[in-house]
Amino acid sequence: MTPQPSPQAGAAVKAADRAHVFHSWSAQELIDPLAVAGAEGSYFWDYEGRRYLDFSSGLVYTNIGYQHPKVVAAIQEQAARLTTFAPAFAVEARSEAARLIAERTPGDLDKIFFTNGGADAVEHALRVARLHTGRPKVLAAYRSYHGGTQQAVNVTGDPRRWASDSGTAGVVHFWAPFLYRSRFYAETEEQECARALEHLETTIAFEGPGTIAAIILETVPGTAGIMMPPAGYLAGVREICDKYGIVFVLDEVMAGFGRTGTWFAADLYGVVPDLMTFAKGVNSGYVPLGGVAISAAIAATFAERPYPGGLTYSGHPLACAAAVATINVMAEEGVVEHAARLGGEVLEPALRELAERHRSVGEVRGTGMFWALELVRNRETREPLVPYNATGQAAAPMSAFAASAKAHGLWPFVNMNRTHVVPPCNVSEAELKEGLAALDTALSVADEYT
Ligand code: PMP
Repeated sequence: MTPQPSPQAGAAVKAADRAHVFHSWSAQELIDPLAVAGAEGSYFWDYEGRRYLDFSSGLVYTNIGYQHPKVVAAIQEQAARLTTFAPAFAVEARSEAARLIAERTPGDLDKIFFTNGGADAVEHALRVARLHTGRPKVLAAYRSYHGGTQQAVNVTGDPRRWASDSGTAGVVHFWAPFLYRSRFYAETEEQECARALEHLETTIAFEGPGTIAAIILETVPGTAGIMMPPAGYLAGVREICDKYGIVFVLDEVMAGFGRTGTWFAADLYGVVPDLMTFAKGVNSGYVPLGGVAISAAIAATFAERPYPGGLTYSGHPLACAAAVATINVMAEEGVVEHAARLGGEVLEPALRELAERHRSVGEVRGTGMFWALELVRNRETREPLVPYNATGQAAAPMSAFAASAKAHGLWPFVNMNRTHVVPPCNVSEAELKEGLAALDTALSVADEYT
């Protein structure tokens, strides 16, 4: 039953939450979660009647917005017909979801191993790579996020790894290209690309090529700042992987399913990995689902010997029915093309125009419905608006920015010194403009700290 959106009902929800819900990534007593009464399309609202335009798409996953009627109906129909069934059986929703996904993944990534989300997709991709090659190590990038479970957080290249790094050998980090904060003293994208590839190959030489099972990269690093790789970088990594027999894993958990204005970010670069992880947008997050798309050559490794891994809810029928409906909606409603067009024609020029007027904006980068504004104290020195990994008072400029956005009806995505502009891929032009106006006001607040 839909809860009554009254302040009293909201207070009760909040009281139970405060008493019993242990929240992710949070100091439990320092947070104040908003009680959400409902959501539709690009908006959600609280029990006080305040509406927010969601420029964060939840955690960058509601690629077709909230409560799309066709997906809700498909979940209801599946629940009525066959709510669940164990993974060892062939089930219509599961096989149809796998078929629709395999049809869209690049190259011969035609076998789909289903998981419950992104982190376990990464776990399984790395296990598959290790079993396929018989090698122990994985190379992963700094400035990356791959998930909150043990191995996924170990390959993650941001401070969340520090607390739970197992310290076991087997994961080696390297620097992927990022010209704005180049580790390679590069001044052009070409230099950044060439030097990053050279650095990667040197890392491989010193680690021992025959010990490396996989290189894992987000096609476009998302959480770490939406850093579009320079042209040629991913193709270069593909070549390096081929040269040394290393499995190339692209993590498309955030960038996949329309976010970049293509079905997958890999399509932007014409690169085909050996394994590709996905989650989030596959069914707009309506029911937890993720997976690994597996190449024919790697699938063949497990043709005669069993793959020693699985999950109780792998390919859960409700989640798969939601995926089938979501993919069909995206195809029928042209959501991917819409994200590309609106991103290029409306969002990008508007963000660049904001950057001209707001001195706190150091860089604008992205594509489709996948954009980041990097906020700085000083455009010349590029000093971040808040220090790396800042919390509490040290993070005040970003908190003030976010508070202003919310006061003007915009729910922003904020991470460290960045705000990411990641609305649903089917956001309307009018909604985009409404959100951009609130963003303009919030950036004036950020400007005060420069
Ligand atoms: N990989 C990437 C690129 C992600 O962005 C995320 C989640 N933000 C994950 C993996 C982990 O996904 P999940 O939270 O569904 O486990």
